[in-house]
Amino acid sequence: MPKSVLDSDAYEVFPEKREECGLFGIFGDPEAVQKTYFGLHALQHRGQESAGIASCDGESIQCYKGMGTVSRVFRTGSEALTRLKNPIAVGHVRYSTCGSSKVENSQPLLAEYSRGQVAVAHNGNLINAGLLRDEYEAYGSIFKSTNDTEIIVHLLAKPSHQSKPDSLGHVLNHLQGAYSLLFMFADRIEAACDPYGIRPLCIGRTDKGCWVVASESCAIDAIGAEFVREVEPGEIVRLDKNGLHSRFFVKPGSIKPAHCIFEHVYFSKQNSRIFGENVHEFRKKLGHQLAREHAVEADVVIPIPDSGTSSAIGYSEQSKIPFDMGMVRSHYIGRTFISPSQKLRELEVTLKLAIIKEVVKDKRVVVVDDSIVRGTTTRSKIRALREAGAKEIHMRVSCPPIRCPCHYGVDFPTREELLANGRTLDDIREFLEVDTVGYLSLDGLLSSASLPKDHYCTACWSGRYPIPVDITLNKFSMERYQLYMFEEFATANE
Ligand code: SF4
Repeated sequence: MPKSVLDSDAYEVFPEKREECGLFGIFGDPEAVQKTYFGLHALQHRGQESAGIASCDGESIQCYKGMGTVSRVFRTGSEALTRLKNPIAVGHVRYSTCGSSKVENSQPLLAEYSRGQVAVAHNGNLINAGLLRDEYEAYGSIFKSTNDTEIIVHLLAKPSHQSKPDSLGHVLNHLQGAYSLLFMFADRIEAACDPYGIRPLCIGRTDKGCWVVASESCAIDAIGAEFVREVEPGEIVRLDKNGLHSRFFVKPGSIKPAHCIFEHVYFSKQNSRIFGENVHEFRKKLGHQLAREHAVEADVVIPIPDSGTSSAIGYSEQSKIPFDMGMVRSHYIGRTFISPSQKLRELEVTLKLAIIKEVVKDKRVVVVDDSIVRGTTTRSKIRALREAGAKEIHMRVSCPPIRCPCHYGVDFPTREELLANGRTLDDIREFLEVDTVGYLSLDGLLSSASLPKDHYCTACWSGRYPIPVDITLNKFSMERYQLYMFEEFATANE
């Protein structure tokens, strides 16, 4: 039994690698709630399962959240959205990477402890959350959700942690894994990034001088604010009535960064600036390198839209093969969950991604995608191109073959489900039903980046995890009760 509807086969027609979460926060703006709403819209690509905004009038925090996209959640809450004049707000869009897709796991997580209220929004994955939770449960703590973020609130509330000079920094030192976090207290927002800087987080400023923090700079642009800089690995940035203050909870430079390079390859928006450079420009460089590594004679280069587009432009620039749009994505179909058969699933792919026959008919086509995970969706698109009359199809992928799952906040399938796991390039070519296939090398990927090569996480390709992980854990590891229920259900029906 699938643990959520999004885990069913019906989800197969949608992206195989799923986003993680997006954060937005703003301090001191009378339109903070409304600007957070716009900021979340700009970050919608990072998660569509739930959305929420917590805001504060300087004394108490109110939180509104629900399941679905930003516009779906705030359609019913729109009155609250337009009425609230609170000057402090944090927002969150979620794709579940720890815990199921249900409203109890949506964020911001609002809690009350001896020092008052706190709303927490998290992007990433805490790899020691299960151990910490076991420890707290052994002493009687009760958890309301099954996500990893709730443990942070328990750590904050512990009296021995509160007595430390920098209690938040002390708490963060107990966490392992990937985390970009926003904490909203009654009088301030504190934004923090894990010591490896795995997930992005940046700072902006409005023309009225209000400070903003967001997962990506596209959200800062969306409210007309100026990008200032990124939050450094191991840094806490405090936004309060006296402005912006920075401190570090680990010695700066003591840990080598491990920025998720997949953010550049796939997740982040093309107009965002993350880890020191613009995403679109980065992807074009990947396309240049891909063309150098895997040249082929062809008539046209087409992208799998949208994330393959920038790399395809780069491939075309380098190879001098004309670029064109051979597929058009429908942004209106959404998620239907009604795909009982393979044939219907393929029809859904066609509906979502329509082929422009005139561009590909009788042509030798280079198809560029950012990455391939299971490969079944890619194969459906290739079949559609053949049916439209493409003479030759040369698949080019702007990252290396993905062979390992991510434990730092990206929801890939299991290792066994990954197309490249245990397959040769020739096996992959046959599976995809293409004439040739070429993946960008890891060195080619890293040499296209502006930071030193060893400042990135590459674990999903190389298997080298910068923070040791228990590879047996998965996103449902903290759902023991529900799993027992499913087992009982299964036994009872045998
Ligand atoms: S394993 Fe891959 S997706 Fe996960 S953090 Fe590392 S580079 Fe990013």
